[in-house]
Amino acid sequence: METNNNETVGARKGSIGVTTENIFPVIKKFLYSDHEIFLRELVSNAVDATQKLKTLSSFGEYKGELGDMAVRVKVDPEAGTLTVSDHGIGMTAEDIDKYINQIAFSGAEEFLEKYKDNANSIIGHFGLGFYSAFMVAKKVEIRSLSYKEGAEAVKWECDGSPEYTMEKTEKSDRGTDIVLYIDDENKKFLQQGEIDSLLKKYCRFLPVPVISGMEQEWKDGKYVDTDREKVVNATEPLWTRKPSELTDEDYRTFYHELYPGQEDPLFWIHLNVDYPFTLTGILFFPKIKNNFEIAKNRIQLYCNQVYVTDSVEGVVPEFMTLLQGVIDSPDIPLNVSRSYLQADSAVKKISGYITKKVSSRLEEIFKADRADFEKKWDDIKIFIEYGMLTDEKFCDAAMKFYLLKDTDDKYYTLSEYRTLVEATQTDKDGNVVYLYANNKTAQYTYIQDAVAKGYNVLLMDGQLDSHLIGLLESKIEKTRFVRVDSDVVDNLIPSADKKAVELSNVERDMLTTLYRSQIPSVEKSEFLVSFEALSPEANPVLITQNEYMRRMKEMAAMQPGMSFYSELPDSYNLIVNTEHPIIKKIKEGADSKVLDSMEEMAKSIEEKNSAIQALRDTVKDKGADVKLSDEDQGKVTNLENEVTHLRKEENRIVSDYAASQPLVKQVIDLALLANGLLKGEALNAFIRRSVNLL
Ligand code: ADP
Repeated sequence: METNNNETVGARKGSIGVTTENIFPVIKKFLYSDHEIFLRELVSNAVDATQKLKTLSSFGEYKGELGDMAVRVKVDPEAGTLTVSDHGIGMTAEDIDKYINQIAFSGAEEFLEKYKDNANSIIGHFGLGFYSAFMVAKKVEIRSLSYKEGAEAVKWECDGSPEYTMEKTEKSDRGTDIVLYIDDENKKFLQQGEIDSLLKKYCRFLPVPVISGMEQEWKDGKYVDTDREKVVNATEPLWTRKPSELTDEDYRTFYHELYPGQEDPLFWIHLNVDYPFTLTGILFFPKIKNNFEIAKNRIQLYCNQVYVTDSVEGVVPEFMTLLQGVIDSPDIPLNVSRSYLQADSAVKKISGYITKKVSSRLEEIFKADRADFEKKWDDIKIFIEYGMLTDEKFCDAAMKFYLLKDTDDKYYTLSEYRTLVEATQTDKDGNVVYLYANNKTAQYTYIQDAVAKGYNVLLMDGQLDSHLIGLLESKIEKTRFVRVDSDVVDNLIPSADKKAVELSNVERDMLTTLYRSQIPSVEKSEFLVSFEALSPEANPVLITQNEYMRRMKEMAAMQPGMSFYSELPDSYNLIVNTEHPIIKKIKEGADSKVLDSMEEMAKSIEEKNSAIQALRDTVKDKGADVKLSDEDQGKVTNLENEVTHLRKEENRIVSDYAASQPLVKQVIDLALLANGLLKGEALNAFIRRSVNLL
């Protein structure tokens, strides 16, 4: 190790080795956006210099006293200066020549033009950390004394032109002072308060104590400086420590320091890797009180404990942007632009690693304390579902600890659930049907019916559940999710031995008209009458909503360009249970009162239709341009009119009859009531009718 460095610094002038005319105006002009990062750069340099000396000392290559190694940031409003001082390795005149004066800087203007909105990328790209001082200073002074034995203190000065001066100076303590003569537009950097908040943002976890200003105390009604220096950072933040040395309380405390005013986190994952890249960090799963609170980008990115950014998109997997915490890696090229970051293969690996680590840690927690995991499930579900939907690898890993919850609040893994329902809920095509509700109260009767039949009903009421259903259907073979109110219980899981409905065509037409005519009009809703031979104990009339149409409408509501579906009315099935005694009674009444005339008219309609057909057949095979004679066409028109008339008649007779039967209205209204569809006038009529029937 060279210790003899006795060359004397002769006062001299020189030109900073840049190839462009003058880089400083360029720096000033283009790096307008992030002026404040100059402080991060200077303090980081000071910390680096300090760390380097500590390293040399630990290897025995520096034998002197280390002494006070704090970095100090001092504002002097009167002198108009801001000074960053360290007691690190310092620089000799040679060092300054090499590291400060010779900046490799070619094609600067072109580059700056391209990246003018991203000061970070330019500064990092060219190692211009030190020169960022000129964004806020009209003159910069370096006063430095190298650690090398016999070194001479040196002063370098530059006013923002490419000319600098360098000369010998008096400086008794080892290390470097960078003195910034703050320019007029940047006076705010002479306020202690401003500096405090910048230090808090960029330097709060730097590994060397950073001191700025004095501790204050409350005295005589105001805050006054004490004689104690104020340390602004925690030099050993939690993520740099060994997980085995830390308690849960430590993690919680750290969390609250980072995110004041939040509830305790649900749990956390301590990342710690040194191969194939170095990365440490702690990720917290925050407790989200309601779904509106979900905010992205709450992870802070550090590079060797220097804060870099909290917009981490592209660096961490998409779903993790919902988490909170810190990631620290010297291997993420932090100073380059975002698009570069996203394409960087190291970044991709890191992102993949974090995904793996998060999923395996979740699995561990699940295995180690399932009861606790279940307790937290409802809160963490949103993160996991978001992860599964956006990251295929995470999804595959999460299939092991993803939990389904049923309407009795029991939790099952996907494979446990399969085992539970396979025997009872397989349909005739061999699909296992997963029944679910998304509102326990509104779908109460359907849930009860399904449970009474021995089925299990899942509760899928999370914000992302409807998306997840699609995902699970595609991931687990032979699986269908069916909402519990999408059909009558006997049809939810179609089996081969279903009882057929025995109705003649005329009976079916009659009954369809009978029920349809008595459905009160419900806004934006449409009803389709159908018949099912359900058990006599099931309700006489049921209302269900088609699963497919409902999903289409739900999706349409969330996506633009699908307004066709969202504008359709809600379509319901009104299912009449032909086995129910009341329905049988209604049918008997109608049979005796209107069926005969129905049959007569049906017969007549049929005859007329055949007559129409016969007339049309006379020209059928004679080519498209051969028309019926005027006479025959007249006959057809007459017959068609008669058919229309008969149909109207049928309709009128059945409707009139139905209107005279309070029981018909009553069974329909009961079904509407069970679905919350009976309102206003119709509800009123129902109540009056019920009283009368009593
Ligand atoms: P970078 O830090 O990216 O290398 P900078 O322009 O910030 O670029 O600094 C250039 C070099 O100047 C550093 O690598 C270091 O060798 C030297 N330097 C800067 N500040 C200090 C300091 N406070 N103490 C010792 N050396 C320093």
